[in-house]
Amino acid sequence: MSLSEIREKIAAAERKAGRPEGSVTLVAVSKVQPLERIEAVLDAGHRVFGENKVQEAQGKWPAFRERFEGVELHLVGPLQTNKARAAMELFDAIHTVDRPKLARTLARLADETGRCPDLFVQVNTGEEPQKAGVLPAEADALVAEVRELGLPLKGLMCIPPVDEEPALHFALLAKIAARHGLEGLSMGMSDDYERAIAQGATHVRVGSAIFGARNYG
Ligand SMILES: *Cc1c(COP(=O)(O)O)cnc(C)c1O
Repeated sequence: MSLSEIREKIAAAERKAGRPEGSVTLVAVSKVQPLERIEAVLDAGHRVFGENKVQEAQGKWPAFRERFEGVELHLVGPLQTNKARAAMELFDAIHTVDRPKLARTLARLADETGRCPDLFVQVNTGEEPQKAGVLPAEADALVAEVRELGLPLKGLMCIPPVDEEPALHFALLAKIAARHGLEGLSMGMSDDYERAIAQGATHVRVGSAIFGARNYG
């Protein structure tokens, strides 16, 4: 599917949900993709991209940023505290704040540098042991702590279990966000972004539907 087709589907999903046009940000997740595919999407005018590894992003985005103006970069993968400084320098948004220690590290660095990317707290809605994210029962406490630290918290993020109906997870995430007055909802990927928009997603993270399958070979 092409970028323009996905943009049309997003616009249609916004209309259907009675939401204003442009209320959903398409984060094009470019991890592992060959540089020429990313360049084609940049040439098509898209500027918001997602990466899941700090080091991989450091390897390709500084050069793209020199050539293309207005690139906005989102970290959508887990963040180790020892990479927090690099992540804060490179990314405009971090979707994966999932523990108090990371929040405190980000707060310290924000004090030191005077800037901080937009933050999302990642919630492990499926309570999967192998997956990052704070458990739903602990989400309220982490949201409160991130706010007490004075960090720019925009919303919540989730990655539903692969074998479950994502709508239940989107609804849970929206419910937790609503009780904190958080507007940002980072949810929905290639297979379910339209459903996520129906449930209030403000950021959809779409990779393979834009760039084609990832080749990890
Ligand atoms: C890779 C990735 C995506 C994109 O996945 P697709 O199924 O290719 O759209 C979205 N979110 C996160 C956190 C990812 O790691």
